[in-house]
Amino acid sequence: MLLSINSSIAQSDDVTYIKAGRLFDSENEKILSNFIIKIERNRITEVGKNISIPTDAKIIDLSGFTVMPGLIDGHTHLMTLDDFNNDQPMADKLLFEGDALRVLRGSKRAKSWLENGFTTVRDLGDSGPFLDVALKRAINEGTVVGPRMFVSGPIIISEGGQVAGLMNKYRDVISDEYTIVRSVDDAINAVRVHVNNGADIIKICANNSPNNTSLTIDEMNAIVKMAHRYDKKVTAHATNDLAVWEAVTAGVDGIEHGYQISDTTLTFMAKKGVVLVPTDISEPLFHKLYDIIDFEWDREKNMKRAKDRYKDRLQRAIKAGVTIVTGSDNYLNFEMPQGEAAKNILVAYQEEGMKPLQILSSSTYLSAKFMDKENELGIIKKGAFADIIAVKGDIDNDFSNTIFNVVFVMKNGEIYVEK
Ligand SMILES: [Zn+2]
Repeated sequence: MLLSINSSIAQSDDVTYIKAGRLFDSENEKILSNFIIKIERNRITEVGKNISIPTDAKIIDLSGFTVMPGLIDGHTHLMTLDDFNNDQPMADKLLFEGDALRVLRGSKRAKSWLENGFTTVRDLGDSGPFLDVALKRAINEGTVVGPRMFVSGPIIISEGGQVAGLMNKYRDVISDEYTIVRSVDDAINAVRVHVNNGADIIKICANNSPNNTSLTIDEMNAIVKMAHRYDKKVTAHATNDLAVWEAVTAGVDGIEHGYQISDTTLTFMAKKGVVLVPTDISEPLFHKLYDIIDFEWDREKNMKRAKDRYKDRLQRAIKAGVTIVTGSDNYLNFEMPQGEAAKNILVAYQEEGMKPLQILSSSTYLSAKFMDKENELGIIKKGAFADIIAVKGDIDNDFSNTIFNVVFVMKNGEIYVEK
């Protein structure tokens, strides 16, 4: 082992300067021009216009591009990929795929998120018995390549989970995929089990489909109290107004999906600072879906009906003052790299009336803030992790093409994409 490393050489090797032609200020939703970012090891140590760069310094010239914090996908299921034409995807996963193959496949998907500019994901269940924790460890130690992961472990849910039609005598298999709660005491212990197993966030189902069962407000409240005791956020799958209202009453921090929410409930969410993660589908993905399932009947009308509902709910949420956080919920096989399909969530928000910089803020700063990480993630400032991407094109006037044109991805100071 070589111990006589010259410390000054070692230090200068660890310093990189990025020249950013345009720089997205995620906290203030502004584009700045001609900034320099100084990076030492895995952290940003200086950001400004007048930073002097030593002549022998390592420089990454991104002056022709828009530089921004790495994107955050707030709702993923890396360990799941269902085919549209498969009637029993859950049975395939639980009975035939097995944990080893499942996590290997998940690791390939993780890489595609990173390559598409998502340097962080929140993985919210559908990941077997804490396979998400295993993948996160493998990524953090460098065994496989992927984004930073904040993981929930199994979804905490009422009897039956999201598995429909299973014979009761086989119901034990469901506990490989979900943490089933049958009482307030179960709810309390579920959080302990999750924390012990390495969960970063708690994911619950306030309502459930296709099984039409739900947790009670008391059970959800017990989960929230316990999770907050351990400094963990709780986010709830909730698709209709009653489920959202009950989850917010129980004290959750985030609502996933929220397809139907009344103005009264949105006001309640805003008052309690509960974020909304709208997992909407973009028009290009709708068309892709129709192609895959061979759906020809009145496509436009069918799509418009869904998009109008998404848009109405998103606009009312913004008007009520609810914070919007990006989440793709991409677990379906759109016959393209999963990270690319996930990127479509940004397109969906634009179709529904959000402005490009608003969308990027929801995908960076606001998402990090939801996790109390806004000084380290989703932001380019002194002290933050060096999670930095660059895109080629015009963010303001050609958003939907530009965000797919990722030319540079750095995570934790390491470069993964450089075109
Ligand atoms: Zn989901």
